[in-house]
Amino acid sequence: MPDLSESDSRKLLRRLRDTLALPAAGQERLDRVTSLIASSLKTEVCSVYLFRDDDTLELCATQGLRPEAVHQTRMRLGEGLVGRVAKTGKFINTANAPAEKGFRYMPETGEEIYSSFLGVPLQRLGDRLGVLVVQSKRAREFSEDELYALEVVAMVLAEMSELGAFIGEGEALQAPHQGPEVFRGATGQEGAAEGRVWLHEPRVVITNPVNDDPRREKARLRAGVERLSADVDRMMQAIGAADKEQQQVLEAYRLFANSRGWRRRMEEDIDRGLSAEAAVEKEQSTIRARLQQSQDQYLRERLDDIDDLSNRLLRILTGQGQETGAEMPENPVLIARNIGPGELLEYDRKLRAVVLEEGSVGSHAAIVARAWGIPLVIRAEGIVTEALNGDPILVDGDSGVVHLRPEETIAAAFRDKIAMQAKALERYADLRPLPALTKDGRRIALHMNAGLMADLPSLTHSGAEGVGLFRTELQFLIRSHVPGREQLARLYSRVMDAAKGKRVVFRTLDIGSDKVLPYMKPQDEPNPALGWRAIRVGLDKPGVLRMQLQALIRAAAGRPLSIMFPFIADPREFYEARELLMREMAREARLNRVLPARLEIGAMLETPSLAFAPRQFFEQVDFLSIGGNDLKQFFFAADRENERVRRRYDTLSSEFLGFIARIVERCREIDTPLSFCGEDAGRPVEAACLAAMGLDMLSMRPASIGPVKHLLRRTNLTDLAGVIAEAQAEGAQSVRPMVMSYLAGLKD
Ligand code: PEP
Ligand code: MG
Repeated sequence: MPDLSESDSRKLLRRLRDTLALPAAGQERLDRVTSLIASSLKTEVCSVYLFRDDDTLELCATQGLRPEAVHQTRMRLGEGLVGRVAKTGKFINTANAPAEKGFRYMPETGEEIYSSFLGVPLQRLGDRLGVLVVQSKRAREFSEDELYALEVVAMVLAEMSELGAFIGEGEALQAPHQGPEVFRGATGQEGAAEGRVWLHEPRVVITNPVNDDPRREKARLRAGVERLSADVDRMMQAIGAADKEQQQVLEAYRLFANSRGWRRRMEEDIDRGLSAEAAVEKEQSTIRARLQQSQDQYLRERLDDIDDLSNRLLRILTGQGQETGAEMPENPVLIARNIGPGELLEYDRKLRAVVLEEGSVGSHAAIVARAWGIPLVIRAEGIVTEALNGDPILVDGDSGVVHLRPEETIAAAFRDKIAMQAKALERYADLRPLPALTKDGRRIALHMNAGLMADLPSLTHSGAEGVGLFRTELQFLIRSHVPGREQLARLYSRVMDAAKGKRVVFRTLDIGSDKVLPYMKPQDEPNPALGWRAIRVGLDKPGVLRMQLQALIRAAAGRPLSIMFPFIADPREFYEARELLMREMAREARLNRVLPARLEIGAMLETPSLAFAPRQFFEQVDFLSIGGNDLKQFFFAADRENERVRRRYDTLSSEFLGFIARIVERCREIDTPLSFCGEDAGRPVEAACLAAMGLDMLSMRPASIGPVKHLLRRTNLTDLAGVIAEAQAEGAQSVRPMVMSYLAGLKD
């Protein structure tokens, strides 16, 4: 086989494109492709192996091997030379294939007469599609140019296969992104939903991987890279020097965007006949394959950076920005690698479910999903690469399982499950007017958590007695700039109107940690959860807090007003915040505004320190609310956003419940009203245990009110407290097993 010049390679690609453009069924196309490659490269054999399933490759077309072996010869991933190329994502080039380690002889193919072997992976952005092989009788290694040409051809085939070019009706070839796939992640929020995929970051589709004019393509690439560099510079400026970690990531981006090696390799690909975007993607796939194999965790984590950068460049080149022209389906299920609460809120209540590759139960994005009452599955690895916009999808939040493009039988069973859940909801609706009165006569007040105007109708639907926690920061997160005082006052007034006299506890701005406002300079903090957040920001830079307090006083306009300060770790923070509020009251009075009829000022107990505050503090606060999400993370020193550590510690551990009991006791000594508003209040078993520990008021997501009330009405809290005490006395680390067996014995 003679050496291939660049122009030969370009010619081959053009002929390949023309062949692929001819109308034909998938198999016919593949047959033509193998014969074209064999004749252009002047090899006796050219074969295409594609994945049958995740673990099996199948000979799908060949020129030169025995035709009867097509769709018969199969090998496992890693088996033989073909299997090895697929597994490692690296080419094999050998003059003496039978002498190569791992060689496996496939008698039905008649390949024993071919000595030389060159196999390259067919892959696209971490997606393994198959292997492209050429073989010849004469024992010799293929040249660099030949290898290069075959890799470029493989790239085009991978792109065309992505577009479904080799799939035809009733044919045995595997279709990419078409078969059913199951992802096993973890529960972020229970519930079941059926819908269609909506990708948070849609994938770029390359429709023309072949170029006719390398000069023009190189100019396009250069312009694209220049724009990319300028974008990175702009991002660095916007972030500012304070955020060192982001700066470092962007610095790496900048180095990469300006890397000569990267550009040179892409330009060489263009000289071989690829379009600028196909060259970018080929490089991305190659780097991906290399990094994925790496033992070095740091390098593997850089994958996301490379992907992000390459995707930006692809979007610049193809003009497929965030807006790809796709229409959001009617029942969208959002798929993302990860998402912040602000970005999620932008979707408004349209979503049926959310599936994340990363994500964590304790994050605020999870809290938003929970507030919306939609199922959330986290850690569904690989779904972002596999799912396409519009794919049918079933999300089972209870088990953390996601069915993408499900078989009809699965979908039918799933619909039954959804119907059963709807029935359960009907049962809870019957409970709506009834109080959460336990078997031993305790009445537990059930309130709901909210944060958006759109949450308020749930006050009626759920039967909540009031809003125990209104997270005011959500209003700040959904805007691109700080809302003004009048705008806030109007909003808070509408919230109070919608509550129709029911109590609404407004928690002042709680930003920092994972709640980053898009228009505020991010802080460079090693531990943001322990950093400058919530009331600490409010007291150090009181401008926004004061404006918010004024807005609340004005919104109340003579009605009762409840305000709660978040994250009080030291009583002095509460006193200082209250002082600020009283000054605003005095100012409003001077301006002749109507003051609230009654003002309640409370604090959130979210750090263990506050449980040990002097008695005077418990006398001074009008009420306390336990923010269990933060309290638990600090109690166990386990990041609420880090699934690995978070799951080690049970809310129903003897230690944590013992601590809650201690807080209840301190509040009882002086009759300080106490509630619990963390996520655990919305989990029926946890809620019952909290009530058994003495909490009389729980605030939760609206959808939990029915299930929590249902359980409480069947429970005797004195008995349950006895079971907990018994488990604690026995030295149980978690009281959960004994509690569960007690609850299992309750009558329906
Ligand atoms: C909490 O920490 O439990 C809480 C209710 O506040 P957030 O989840 O908003 O931090
Ligand atoms: Mg909190």
